Amino acid sequence: MKAFENKTVIITGGAMGLGLATAQVLADKGANLVIVDYNEEALDKAKNELEKSGAKVLTIVADVSNEEAVKNYVDKAVEEFGHIDGFYNNAGIEGKQASLTDYDVKIFKKVIDINLLGVYYGMRYVIPVMQKQGGGKIVNVASVGGIRGVINQTPYVASKHAVSGMTKNAAIEYGKDNIFTNAIAPGAILTPMVAQAFKEVNPDNPKAAETEYAQRNPTRRLGQPEEVGRLVAFLLSDDCRYVNGQTIAIDGGESNLY
Ligand code: NAD
Repeated sequence: MKAFENKTVIITGGAMGLGLATAQVLADKGANLVIVDYNEEALDKAKNELEKSGAKVLTIVADVSNEEAVKNYVDKAVEEFGHIDGFYNNAGIEGKQASLTDYDVKIFKKVIDINLLGVYYGMRYVIPVMQKQGGGKIVNVASVGGIRGVINQTPYVASKHAVSGMTKNAAIEYGKDNIFTNAIAPGAILTPMVAQAFKEVNPDNPKAAETEYAQRNPTRRLGQPEEVGRLVAFLLSDDCRYVNGQTIAIDGGESNLY
């Protein structure tokens, strides 16, 4: 029997990047998947890909910063599969690169709406379902920007520190209900979001920006989305017991540098 047979996992922002890579790892391990994203076209593509592994896949178009839409995706997941065993609360955006004093407040608020409130709404509606069914596992997505500062990314850093904080609170409030909540803090993992950031740093030669960035990492490379997927799969699995309220860096050791 596969590790996630008969288990249902909701993945927000699952149509691309880290969400999709994790969905693929979980599909291979037998999970039923509920993939939530606001990019409908990418969502359809993801469903086709994931179903090749034989997974049951429910896709839901939703913006995680809209509370009603979040309530709806949780209700739909329960309607379809009856339970939610794992929740990968992953959808997030980077915003723009600008110094603290120059930051466009409209974009600042958008980053907070998606990265902070989107993660909060997800837990707000998933946790009662998990309480009712006797437990569950949650993995929120922070970032190394949730552990330290990142130049020109004030709202991103603020939102990701908040994700780490909310993870601690969920852990201490709902551990009694057999709900384990942890966060991951990826470093630079080569997804469309990071590729876009390299384009902004060096529009003429994004590959050069990527190579230069990788030289700072103890492993001299960027991470692969599938490596993140494997960590998340562990944190959502029955093998992961008694880890609660932690923010686990997956960054080749980079956050230990100063
Ligand atoms: P990505 O842009 O490749 O994918 C993000 C997905 O989330 C997309 O499918 C997008 O449509 C969806 N999404 C964004 N906002 C949404 C919203 N409001 N509602 C619904 N769906 C939404 O990004 P990624 O690199 O895979 O990032 C995923 C998460 O990992 C984010 O929270 C990001 O901050 C975090 N992260 C990524 C890295 C990295 O190196 N890639 C590093 C640290 C943290």
